[in-house]
Amino acid sequence: MNKYKFFIYLSFTVFLTACGGASDSEVSNEASADLSKIFKWKMVTTWPANFPIFQEGAERFADDVRTMSNGRLDIHVYAGGELVPALQVFDAVSNGVVEMGHGSPYYWAGKVPEAQFFSSVPFGMTAKGMNAWLYNAGGLELWNEIYKPFNLMAFPMGNTGVQMGGWFNKEIKSMGDIKGLRMRIPGLGGKVFKKAGGNPVLMAASEVYTALERGTIDATEWVGPFHDMRLGLDRAAKFYYYPGWHEPGTVFELMINDSKWSLLPKDLQKMVEMAAAATSERIYAQMEYHNQQALTELRKKQNVQILEFPKEVLLNFKRLTKETLDEEAADSSTFKRVYDAYENFRSNYASWDKLSEESYQTSLRLK
Ligand code: CA
Repeated sequence: MNKYKFFIYLSFTVFLTACGGASDSEVSNEASADLSKIFKWKMVTTWPANFPIFQEGAERFADDVRTMSNGRLDIHVYAGGELVPALQVFDAVSNGVVEMGHGSPYYWAGKVPEAQFFSSVPFGMTAKGMNAWLYNAGGLELWNEIYKPFNLMAFPMGNTGVQMGGWFNKEIKSMGDIKGLRMRIPGLGGKVFKKAGGNPVLMAASEVYTALERGTIDATEWVGPFHDMRLGLDRAAKFYYYPGWHEPGTVFELMINDSKWSLLPKDLQKMVEMAAAATSERIYAQMEYHNQQALTELRKKQNVQILEFPKEVLLNFKRLTKETLDEEAADSSTFKRVYDAYENFRSNYASWDKLSEESYQTSLRLK
């Protein structure tokens, strides 16, 4: 064996040992195929083009993956309506028309009612409780089990933080003021609002400002100070209520077509998973940052009153939330299963949260 041949032999032996002794052809095929193959994927989102933080987050995620993979996973991001309408993202990813989607699970409540627990439910957990449940306490596994029949899998990819209760054209002093009130409030929050005597209305984001300004609706919830001001809601109604009892921390999802995912090499899968986790954290941090800035701006405005919902109203919303969730659970065993898992974690977490965060926050207000 000459020097050159020995070097080849040695390199090959080391390589085989590192790979756990697979046959020659397997090793060379797999290694070369993985590194040369470029995956050109499409992601559709539920957000309007250039929508701050949300759409930007999806695009930054794609950039991060492209950079980390040295271009091997090249994801082109389309805003809602550019390739498929916003509310067809679930079907497009499920059917494999595209590989990925970014939105929030509660948009699919009509098809998968229990998906709402992976988004946000009224009086449910905030971002930190949701993260604890999803990443550590079986929440994400349960979510993926629920998505499996649709050939989908998901990772959390963003959180709005606690939302605001919404904009009202009159003061809310008691439950009597909710009666007959026309409010844009979707999902479970809307169902609770209806039970409370209100009239929940569904409408696209683009119509909300005009509807409130012209009095077609009396109230609307949207997100928080930053996004609400972008929509001009501070110019359409006077009373801005907190807290956002109906959406205490809405989780966003990166949904992926399961068949396409299984074709992705392990290293690219890991990059997607890590980039999704990083994007999740960054979106949440941006929400907290921009909302506090926007709130400072709002407080300077003479025409806006920022008020807390009266205790009576919150207590009633809370009671009606339990009623609503119990009714949904009675209709569906899958809903009940996810509800039970969520509640089991939430109640345990609540005792730690009370003793840690809540107690600390209370200590800050001591005088
Ligand atoms: Ca909202």
